[in-house]
Amino acid sequence: MAPDDTAPVNVDSAWPDPAQATPMLAHYLEVKRQHPDCLVFYRMGDFYELFFEDAAAGAKALGLTLTARGETVGGKSVPMAGVPVHAVESYLLRLIRAGFKVAVCEQVEELAEAKKRGAKAMVRREVIRIVTPGTLTEDALLDARRNNYLAAVAEAEGQTGLAWLDMTTGDFACEALPRGGLGAALARIEPGEILLSERLVQAPELFETLAQWKAQLSPLPGSRFDSESAKRRLMKLYEVQALDHLGPLGRAEIAAAGALVDYVELTQKGRVPRLGRLARVSDAGIMEIDAATRRNLELTKSFAGERRGSLLGVIDRTLTGAGARLLAARLAAPSTEPAVIAARLDMVTWFLDAPAAREGVRTSLKRCPDLERALSRLVLGRGGPRDLAALRDGLVETEVLRKALGQPLLPPLPKGLHLAQRGLGQHLALVDRLARALADELPLLARDGGFVRPGYSAALDEQVKLRSEGRQLVAALEARYRTETDISSLKIRHNNVLGYYIEVTAAQAGKLPKDAASPFIQRQSMANATRYTTVELSELEEKIARAADKALALELALFDDLVKEAAARGEAISEAAHAIAELDLAAGLAVLAADRRYCRPRVDDSKHFAIKGGRHPVVEALRPEDPFVPNDCDLAPERRLWLLTGPNMAGKSTFLRQNALIAILAQMGSYVPAAEARIGVVDRLFSRVGAADDLARGRSTFMVEMVEAAAILHRAGESALVILDEIGRGTATFDGLSIAWATVEHLHEVNKCRALFATHYHELTALAARLPSLACRTMRVKEWEGDVIFLHEVAAGNADRSYGIHVARLAGLPAAAVARAEEVLAQLEAGEQSGRLATLADDLPLFTAAAGKTPRRAAPARGPSAVEEALAPINPDELTPKQALEALYRLRGLLSERG
Ligand code: ADP
Ligand code: MG
Repeated sequence: MAPDDTAPVNVDSAWPDPAQATPMLAHYLEVKRQHPDCLVFYRMGDFYELFFEDAAAGAKALGLTLTARGETVGGKSVPMAGVPVHAVESYLLRLIRAGFKVAVCEQVEELAEAKKRGAKAMVRREVIRIVTPGTLTEDALLDARRNNYLAAVAEAEGQTGLAWLDMTTGDFACEALPRGGLGAALARIEPGEILLSERLVQAPELFETLAQWKAQLSPLPGSRFDSESAKRRLMKLYEVQALDHLGPLGRAEIAAAGALVDYVELTQKGRVPRLGRLARVSDAGIMEIDAATRRNLELTKSFAGERRGSLLGVIDRTLTGAGARLLAARLAAPSTEPAVIAARLDMVTWFLDAPAAREGVRTSLKRCPDLERALSRLVLGRGGPRDLAALRDGLVETEVLRKALGQPLLPPLPKGLHLAQRGLGQHLALVDRLARALADELPLLARDGGFVRPGYSAALDEQVKLRSEGRQLVAALEARYRTETDISSLKIRHNNVLGYYIEVTAAQAGKLPKDAASPFIQRQSMANATRYTTVELSELEEKIARAADKALALELALFDDLVKEAAARGEAISEAAHAIAELDLAAGLAVLAADRRYCRPRVDDSKHFAIKGGRHPVVEALRPEDPFVPNDCDLAPERRLWLLTGPNMAGKSTFLRQNALIAILAQMGSYVPAAEARIGVVDRLFSRVGAADDLARGRSTFMVEMVEAAAILHRAGESALVILDEIGRGTATFDGLSIAWATVEHLHEVNKCRALFATHYHELTALAARLPSLACRTMRVKEWEGDVIFLHEVAAGNADRSYGIHVARLAGLPAAAVARAEEVLAQLEAGEQSGRLATLADDLPLFTAAAGKTPRRAAPARGPSAVEEALAPINPDELTPKQALEALYRLRGLLSERG
């Protein structure tokens, strides 16, 4: 959606009546009427022009100067702003980023053609494409290492369907979403644009989820999500009579997928990109990771919003765009099927065991251009000679790659690599043809010509020869005119306005014959030179132009031919591209494992989580100067919930995250930063940090914390892994402690999942006595001459205190404040609360609450104290000041009696 302040507003008063406009503007207004939600880029010569409201909006967004056309419509001026055609991509990119869509209205014929219809005829213009964030294909507008998905959400029969496609790779998939599952699915796919009906945009139950995707939403009329027409569209796309071959698709999925195809046709003006078979993704096969967890764990983006510092940034050793995209996709959707995971790991293992083959493969991968994106541009009619060259250079490597995998004495290929080797395919004929057809230096656009290698086409060579012969004849003519006129400085030159002309300096012009028989016809006279032409020169020029036109027409025909041949082999090329991506991913993960000493995890259907010597992949990679202390984590069923205490800065958060990251890496099919790892499949992963500020969403931090915690307690089942870091920090101490307390009990008694719970509430460790699967761990520290040294080691037991004041001292709090804090702490610790909590743990079976009884209030364990008993009967309103003072002394006295 366009941002509100710059949106092109389609107000009647702003858009004048076409009847009063010149034919060109009338046509423009008609185009605009058909594309009210787009900025219209109207091609005029070397510029795309914007008019009226669009001009104002475009000028503001792009910093262009707003001018006015030299005509008025209905007495009003015509604001105008333009961008040069040759730089259009960078302008498009900025407009798309600013939330606009752009309809590109091209000149679809040459001026000369229009003139044939009459002297005043207008050049025909048509919208050839609508540029939207989800339908980009240009490399300059895209990140080569990420997919750019166009997604659609539809509802039917009470089900929510999600479909998504990447126009640049042909990936096309759909999924029936579980209730409330839209947020997690969108976070996984990260679409660049989301289509949904106007009704769903307003649906209250989606409000929270969609609020995070505002900039990506493209609302469409509900009619575009009709499942019956969607079905027809898909059948037409796949040229079939029924959709059975795609598996059991629900109406919601069909509606979503059909809406995508419809939208692509609409924006590409009928040209449909090459789309692969619609893959049905099942959430059962994928580890569910919600948006908050992805953010928390910095999977693909660091907190600063960058790839650097994220898990993806650290583990990416791929060498091709396709490989990087596959890695990102795998990381976003780790598998939950041990067999799938093992098959992926087998490929990595093979590359680890065959270092020479790995290097051979990677050397070849470095030369592989982006086959998928080049192919998609060619198929959409938007490709150029360099895209053909990309196919040539990529496909020739398939041969090299196959050989590298098939050398003697290598370990036997695992199934995945065997499939990849086969997927590489045979492309010799196409490679050979492209190699013969394409010249060494290639222009960006086919219409610039000059990209066909001499010797490839006799007809073309003939025209090229005529053209260069013509040029030689011009040179000969120049020499002859010099002798005939005796003007040695006479020159024949060429420019775009006059074409070929003869130039003589003003001083010499007198030497030219002036009689009627003179062949020299004056064309232009300048301060110090005069320009002429002759019949002979014009004829020669004509001949050269004819040859050049013919040569270009022949080249364009050859180009079309090559594109057709490539498109016909689209399936095989796309398969080769997938194979290359698989090889790149597996070899890259092997390099990572070798470089960073990762181990192969064992993933099975158990409920274990046993990591020996685990490390945090990002911390150890980004801070190589501090040696990282490895730690074990063993969430065996009898101790599946770890309560981790320890001072600030001791390494609690790091330990928690590293285990979540190890689970993700293992299940995406990567080696993991550990000495040993056995993981029972994790079907859902949750990670929460207490009191994370979420100002962007405008909710109180504590509210956010609780909303997120609620999601976990509702959704985590026995196969989930839950990471809770200082939950309850965002509110008053007792509130926070109570919530943390209840959360631990709930996880233990109801969710029964594996969990790591870091807390600064030492009081919680009292729960260990009553919850059998709760284990207490603490970060070891050493005190040394009044200083605290963090060992970053996880050990059994509890922290006795949090050393917060120590950290405050380290942070430079003034000495007086530190001393005072120590005093206050001593007072507080002398108080009674910890003792009471210990009793509370024994005393209060919270899960009588879960069993339906009303939870009791956290009552003091022993009866009321003497002070309390004395306080109870006092009514302050009835006391005189003197009585009040006396009461205070009495109470004070009771207190000291006790101490
Ligand atoms: P906490 O959550 O207990 O306050 P953090 O996990 O934020 O502590 O870690 C504090 C600092 O210690 C970080 O700078 C981190 O890089 C470092 N650190 C944590 N764990 C380790 C470890 N195992 N080895 C080395 N340094 C570590
Ligand atoms: Mg922490």
